[in-house]
Amino acid sequence: MAVPLFDLTRQYATLRAEIEPAVCELLVSGNYVLGPAVDEFETGAAAYLNSSHAVGVANGTDALLIALRALDLQPGDEVITTPFTFYSAAEVVALLGARPVFVDIEEDTFNLDPAKIEAAITPKTRAIIPVHIFGHPADMPAIMEIARRHELRVIEDCAQSWGATLNGQQTGTWGELGTFSFFPTKNLGSCGEGGLICSDDARLAEKSRQLRVHGQSQRYIYDELGYNSRLHALQATILSIKLRHVDSWNDARRAHAAHYKNLLQGTPYIVPTERDGARHIYHQYTLRLPAPLDRDRISAKLTERGIGHAIYYPRSLHLQPVFADLGYKVGALPVSERVTEEVLSLPIFPELRADEVELVGAALCEAVAGSR
Ligand SMILES: *Cc1c(COP(=O)(O)O)cnc(C)c1O
Repeated sequence: MAVPLFDLTRQYATLRAEIEPAVCELLVSGNYVLGPAVDEFETGAAAYLNSSHAVGVANGTDALLIALRALDLQPGDEVITTPFTFYSAAEVVALLGARPVFVDIEEDTFNLDPAKIEAAITPKTRAIIPVHIFGHPADMPAIMEIARRHELRVIEDCAQSWGATLNGQQTGTWGELGTFSFFPTKNLGSCGEGGLICSDDARLAEKSRQLRVHGQSQRYIYDELGYNSRLHALQATILSIKLRHVDSWNDARRAHAAHYKNLLQGTPYIVPTERDGARHIYHQYTLRLPAPLDRDRISAKLTERGIGHAIYYPRSLHLQPVFADLGYKVGALPVSERVTEEVLSLPIFPELRADEVELVGAALCEAVAGSR
């Protein structure tokens, strides 16, 4: 592969001297479940996010599930969310017997479109889950204003947005709860699985803490049904180290994005934009290839040249087989549906080299020349 879509080995090589002694120390300590390593990471994460509380859990999907349980979501409740994202948010809403209600997205940012939210609100609507997709903040001031007006709860899915800010404020701290994933390829990634819930509300944080250990309020006293969903101490150890580097990694991603933008100037590719006041942290660098560009042909050319790339996401969630019962038809959410046919994500990770970005840019320019 001339340029990989991502390469986790490059980052590990730069951190090996920090991580390996810390992991060995943890192994020797015997404190594998919660304990000091998880406490330390939770304290560091809360300070980074400028949030009062942080609760480490097993993965980002569980973070969403537990956050919804902390809000006491009930079967039959409706939750407004975006159809253009990874599956988790809609999945956990449905797992709890509630109903995901999909609202269309902004064409230029791929985020939930606040202008379309109010039309989807019914007496059963309980919550909104915006997702800061690809690391670009959703329009939180507008979403929070709608939530206040209709007394709705807000959980932000920040799985792709660790370190992204809007008007200087971290994603995850606008709503009542923010949820994060430490899947290895995320901007802050573990060497396995991990997740986190942040909140300024002490009661919601405490409830999340109980739910991650089976709904236990005191040792062997169970107040409600919960989960076994702790952040592993080994991952917390690694994450505390990585937390010290994440800002410089996000800066590197932003520099690569600026470089791509330069290289693609004057081409028909539509490059990502940034909302006023937003610090986009480019979890993905996602182009739109509007008609008459032929995405399949361009993708084949990139493959031929050994350029890693991916389609995030090829199918809007409202059209997934699992949600057929919800009754959405093709055409119901036209922006999301069109975007699934236009998007193409390029290699972007901190350790990507400038010459690799140039290779990708050149291959794209060549592919577009051949496709018109
Ligand atoms: C990765 C991701 C999740 C799920 O996180 P896991 O840790 O894999 O469970 C949820 N939402 C979004 C938007 C994601 O990108």
